[in-house]
Amino acid sequence: MEFERRSVFGWGATPAPFAPCDAGLVVHYDGSNQGLASKPHSACRRYWDQTRDFHMRANGWIDVGYGFAVCPHSIVMEGRGWQRAQAAQPGGNTTWTSVTFMSGPGEDPTAGQIRAFKELRAWLRGKGLGSGIRGHRDFISTSCPGDRLYRLVRDGTLTGAPAKNWTEDMVKKLPTLGKGAKPSEDMQTLRSLLLARSHPEVGGIEGGFDATVERAVKAVQEWGGIEADGIVGPKTWPVLLRVHK
Ligand SMILES: [Zn+2]
Ligand SMILES: [Zn+2]
Repeated sequence: MEFERRSVFGWGATPAPFAPCDAGLVVHYDGSNQGLASKPHSACRRYWDQTRDFHMRANGWIDVGYGFAVCPHSIVMEGRGWQRAQAAQPGGNTTWTSVTFMSGPGEDPTAGQIRAFKELRAWLRGKGLGSGIRGHRDFISTSCPGDRLYRLVRDGTLTGAPAKNWTEDMVKKLPTLGKGAKPSEDMQTLRSLLLARSHPEVGGIEGGFDATVERAVKAVQEWGGIEADGIVGPKTWPVLLRVHK
């Protein structure tokens, strides 16, 4: 699980008091389409920080209302965290744990987002979370979490075991590639991943690591929220391999 703690956003410890929150997970969504799937992950971080700001200023809450968030780049972001009273779903704030999908009513969650949710669920189950799963609308009259997401809450899509993390195994076998690398099987892998990530300018899978490849790599690194140094190593391969619809 890729997990970003509160410190990543410059937040201190939550002032929210302890609460069991162990009945299961409650799914929330964004009331508006933010288009985060097509933006770099830095946009998610910014949006998460703005969400907290809004909850504190407009709602008068002591902290962001949610326990956790899952973004389109397969990353779990910490809100109040595990076993802290929440504010997002009155009626279940001390008994359930809230997770918000950073996607809106007109946006399907990405496959990576669903995987991140399952990974978070498996992790919390290991800490004593119950098997329950609900949508916000199961507590009060609200459109949240939207019809698309609510269907996934009901049809079991969100409750299966997370797929084995094959990315990690794969990355261990891949070399570090940089400008000037000669054509090879690994270069073919890199080029095909760039093509699959909408970089047709790369031209094809045959060839070495040229300036065009380097530019495409930097664009993908920027999208993934990692340092855009143009070198494909242990940090960049996982971004290239992230699962999307
Ligand atoms: Zn909600
Ligand atoms: Zn993101």
